[in-house]
Order: sequence, then C-alpha cells, then structure tokens
Amino acid sequence: MARLQATATALAQVMTPSEAGRAVLEQALSVFGAEAGAVYLREDNTLRPTVEILGRRQPFLTITIDDVTPLSDAVLSGEHRFYESREQILAEYPAIGPRLSTLVQASVVLVLAVKGRVFGAIALSFESPRELPAADRVFADAIAAQCALAIDRAVLIERERAALERADLLANATALLASTLDTTRVLQQLLELLVPRFADWCAVEMVEGDTTRQIAVAHADPEKVKWGIALRERFPPDRKNLTGIHQVIATGKAELHPYVPPHAVVGTALDPEHARLLEALNIYSVLLVPLVARGRVLGGLSLVWAESKRSYTQVDLELFSELARRAALAIDNATLYRDMRKAVEVRDDFLAAAGHELKTPLAALMMQIESVTRALDRETPPAQLNERLKKASRAAGRLEKLIDDLLDVSRITAGRLHLDPEPLALDEVVKEVVDRFLEQAQLAGCDLTLTTEPAQGVWDRLRIDQVASNLVANAIKYGRGAPITVSTTVSKPFAVLRVTDRGIGIAREEQQRIFERFERVVENRSFGGFGLGLWIARQIVEASGGTIGVASNPGEGATFTVMLPMSPPHA
Ligand code: ADP
Repeated sequence: MARLQATATALAQVMTPSEAGRAVLEQALSVFGAEAGAVYLREDNTLRPTVEILGRRQPFLTITIDDVTPLSDAVLSGEHRFYESREQILAEYPAIGPRLSTLVQASVVLVLAVKGRVFGAIALSFESPRELPAADRVFADAIAAQCALAIDRAVLIERERAALERADLLANATALLASTLDTTRVLQQLLELLVPRFADWCAVEMVEGDTTRQIAVAHADPEKVKWGIALRERFPPDRKNLTGIHQVIATGKAELHPYVPPHAVVGTALDPEHARLLEALNIYSVLLVPLVARGRVLGGLSLVWAESKRSYTQVDLELFSELARRAALAIDNATLYRDMRKAVEVRDDFLAAAGHELKTPLAALMMQIESVTRALDRETPPAQLNERLKKASRAAGRLEKLIDDLLDVSRITAGRLHLDPEPLALDEVVKEVVDRFLEQAQLAGCDLTLTTEPAQGVWDRLRIDQVASNLVANAIKYGRGAPITVSTTVSKPFAVLRVTDRGIGIAREEQQRIFERFERVVENRSFGGFGLGLWIARQIVEASGGTIGVASNPGEGATFTVMLPMSPPHA
C-alpha cells in the first residue's frame, strides 16, 4: 500500500509524456528491483522506447507490432508478461536468442492500457534470475494501471499543446510567405521555423529545368547543416533510380515513413561511402511532401527525425501538406510576378528602341523630300531628281517594312497569323527575292549568287517571300561585304532554302536566342533593326509545318536553313 501511495504521489506531479515516462519507469524499477527498463509507446505499427534507464545493458530497440517478441505480443494481447529466467524467454521465443543481451536474465512486460485501449508497455530487465510470485503479479497490475493513467493524461496534454503549436506554425509560416518575393530566403526562413520543434533535419529541393537543386537546409546544429549540404553535392540524385524526395517530386505524391529501419536508408546508397554517410545521419522517421501549385510540382520538402527518435504521423502529413500548399502558392506567385516584370521591362526596352528605329528611315525620307522640293525650285535636271526620289522611296520602303513587322508581332501574338497556302515553286519565289535584293547587295559590296533546284509545295507565297527576304536582308546586313550564296534544294520530304554569308557570325550561346521575340545580340546595336525578323520567320515556318535553324561560328559567317514540308502537314 505504501508503495502504491508513493507511486501515486510521484506521478501526480508530472506534465509532459517524457516526465511521466521517467517517473513511471523509476517507480517500476524500484518496485521490482530491476536494473534496466524502458517505457514503450505505440505509434501506428511501431513500438518505440520513449524513455529508458539502461544500467549496464544496450539501448532498447524500436520494434514493429508484427515482430515476434514478448513486448509486441503483450501489447497485442493486452496481458502482462513475467519471465523468471532467460530460459523461459528463449523457450517461448527461440528466434530472439541472438538479439537478447546476456544481461537479461529475467524480464517483466507491463501493458499500459486505459479503458481497455493498449497504448504501450513498460519493459523491465533483471541481471539475474528473479522469482515473481503471484503477489508481485497482482501488485504489478495496480502499478501498471497507475502508470498508464499518468502517461495517458500527459499524452493528452501534450496533444493539446501540439495542436496549438501546429496552428501557430501555420499562422507564422503564412505571414512569412507573404512577407517577401525572395523565394530562396523565404524558404530558408521557413525551414528555420521547423527545427527543432517539427524536425531534426529539413530541406527544400526545387525543380530547375530538367533537374532539381537543394536550395535550403536546416538542422538545429549548424555543423550538421554543412554536412547535409556536402552530402547532397557529393551524391546528386541518380536519374535512373530516383528515391526519396526526388521520387516524390517526380510523382507529386507525399510519402510518410513513421519508422525507417537503418537498413532501409543504407539500402538506397550509391556506394559504400554514401552508405556510411547516410548511416551517420541517423534517420529515424521521414516525411516527404511535394510543393504543388496550379497542378505543377515545383519542388519538395523533406522532414527527418533523427537524433530525437520521434515519428511522423498522419497528423504531421496533413499539417505539412497544407504548409507545402501555401509555400508552393507563394513561390508560384513570386515567379509569375517576376516573369511579368521581366516581360514589361523587355517591352519597354523594345518600345524605346523601336522609336529610334522608326525615326532613322523617316529622317532619311524627310531629307530627300526636302531636297527634292528645293531642287524643283531650282529646276534641277530630271536625272538628279530621279536619284533623290529613288532614295526617298527606299527610305519609305524600310519604314514600311518596320511597320509591317510591328503589325505582324501583334497579329502573331494574338494568334491571328493566317496562311493562304497555294501550289508554289520555292525556287521561283526565292529567285524573285534575290533579284529584288541585287541592287542592295551591290551597294553593300556583297556578291549575291543563287543556285536552284526546282522544289514544289503548297505554301503561302507572300509569307515565304517574307522569310526569304528576311534571311537575305540579314545576310547583307551582317555579311561585311563578303559573298552571299542562296540555294534551294530538295531533301525529301522537305524543300530546303539555305542562305549563307561570310560575315560576323553568331556565337553558339546566342543561336537559340536570336529566334526569340525582341532578342538581338547586344553588341550589334550598331546594325539597326527590331530583333523581330527571325522571330517572325520562325513563326511563319513553324506554322507551315517546317523548321528554321542556324549554323555559325563567330567571325566565319552564318548559314540559315529553312526546311519546308513539300506536302501540306495534314495530308
Ligand atoms: P534584326 O536583324 O532586326 O536585329 P532579326 O530577328 O532578323 O532582327 O535578327 C536577330 C539577331 O540575330 C540580329 O540582331 C543579329 O544579332 C543576329 N543575326 C541575324 N542574322 C544574322 C547573320 N546573317 N549573321 C550574324 N548575325 C545575325
């Protein structure tokens, strides 16, 4: 009775589950005179030692409910177990022989239950055989019931506190996510909110193009953060065999691993060194959630319990899925905002440049008109007048071309590029274009030659003319007065147009960009132009089912190749 009273008094003071566990364990050890013991709590299918007093023996192991052990059987059956000697244990459980420390010569397992609900057990071990008479066993029941009540109450209080903490976390995270557009910084700060209360380790991996990059890591211990970063850099994901967060990013499905046995972690290692590092991480429980916004996986959040030996639960999965949803939304918004800002900037730059571009031919036109007017007053000979009018007409022509390009851009962007296909000979259209440019090429000192092979197809005459004109005009513009060759050939099922110059050429890294809207190679500002011609050409060629590309080395000129399908794409 005195024992029971003392136990009740000791247990009445405790608040947290670990305090309760420790008090319970100390009482149980002294009541039975055991040398070592642990309080196990059940979480889903695992039984985890939450508090242990080891004496001389090894730590108690985490086990699962289906392991065949006295502990799991006691929890499943709801009945205490008493073993007066090691032989008794081994007689019932021969398979655990090798795992059973020689320091265990007798053992008691007390089931922790409240109102018939079993939520854990107390395991006690004795270093020498121990008689456990019936009186002890009845007493054990009373002690176990008291302990169960104390722990259960502490767990309930803890659960309340945890719910408040979760609500707090969501509120703080939401405020944080709304505070800035700097995604990397905000994610790092978000992770700092999670350690050590919600994870020992956490990291964010973001999708970048066709790979992913770890952009934030946190651990309560800064030394370990460095270590986590090094591990990720040393061993990037294996594309053919994605595991962990990389797999979650690939599938978009969250993963909850309440308990990860050590061999499961090491099993994902790429080589022995990797295995050693992974082992040293001490991973105990893992929660992986994708960051998804507008149906796209932007990245993933990993949470790991290691040293704390705690387990993630369904409640955590829900909490962190919600957190990930909010984070992904914030990241997505920041990206959209940045893209929009960039687009507005590009447009503004373009408008400024376009103003200048339009003014050049306009100024030339006005100058010619003025001098023609003056010449008329002075009755200048018609030959000179004629020359001036030709120049005026060329300036007006350039102005018209620039304005047409601008109109094409708005037409194409609004999806209103209409093609008017008709049976056509590519070689004939190209010949007309080349003839039209002969004079201009001559003025630029470029020898312009054409070789043709008949190439019949169904295309929009004016638009194909426009593509060829753009390429020939560029060849003259960027051709440095060197010879230019134009050819049409057939390479079934395509008709091929090639324009080759020996001018300034285009660096490899620019070759994609020049086909984009408003994009020009920056140093070429001196050449004039909108940076629209090639973009428009690509839109026309692609709408006709073809392709356009360039091969070039800087300083060695460029060859532009257009491939057009000889039969309509839908035929
Ligand atoms: P624009 O010539 O009006 O700037 P384009 O869209 O026709 O616009 O061309 C985009 C860019 O591609 C040019 O600014 C120039 O830098 C580069 N480019 C086009 N054609 C050639 C060429 N034949 N040789 C070298 N660079 C070229």
